Amino acid sequence: MDPDPEAEQAASKILRTTFLTIACTACNSFHTETSTGVSTIQFSLPDSTSKKNINTVPARKKKKKTIYLTFDDGPNKGTRKVMHIAAEEEMPISMFLIGEHVYGTTEQTATFDSLVHCGIVELENHSYTHANNRYSDFYSQPACTVKDFMRCRDSLELTNNIIRTQGRNIWRTKNLSCTDITKSAAAADSLQEASFTLIGWDL
Ligand SMILES: [Zn+2]
Repeated sequence: MDPDPEAEQAASKILRTTFLTIACTACNSFHTETSTGVSTIQFSLPDSTSKKNINTVPARKKKKKTIYLTFDDGPNKGTRKVMHIAAEEEMPISMFLIGEHVYGTTEQTATFDSLVHCGIVELENHSYTHANNRYSDFYSQPACTVKDFMRCRDSLELTNNIIRTQGRNIWRTKNLSCTDITKSAAAADSLQEASFTLIGWDL
């Protein structure tokens, strides 16, 4: 789905910073692990009797980063293919689903059932209506925004409160708060107050 021109302009300004955040942010738990340790460097010298294990170089603190693969707007054409590839590769992924798409056709409903049972795809909330692609109107009424995400969560019986806003680049996590378009901030805050965690950019 295409973001509106207003959203595109604002989103482009923060693309670089948010891309890194997307790559580093978990869909289930948002944390950065830190480890310390001593690295072992083994040198091979011509004289085998001179081989040494040198345990002298303290490793710098390294922040472990995890890339999460997420897919929006399903179930739709291609959803099953992505699911099968993820299963073959044993690669957990997340899909942000649209309620109306789940109930759009019998095929889409069947695809949703497959996602529920495949065990490799974590299902997240991308709203019930996708704002009917009228994003500015959608976010101008925070109560309705929250209601739409609740409808999706409840109708699909999703087991978490992780969501992705439509046509926007909005983050509301424990450690991160940013909104690409200021007019959408009130709706974003309302979603967070309703216990949702908002993750990233709807491309
Ligand atoms: Zn979308």
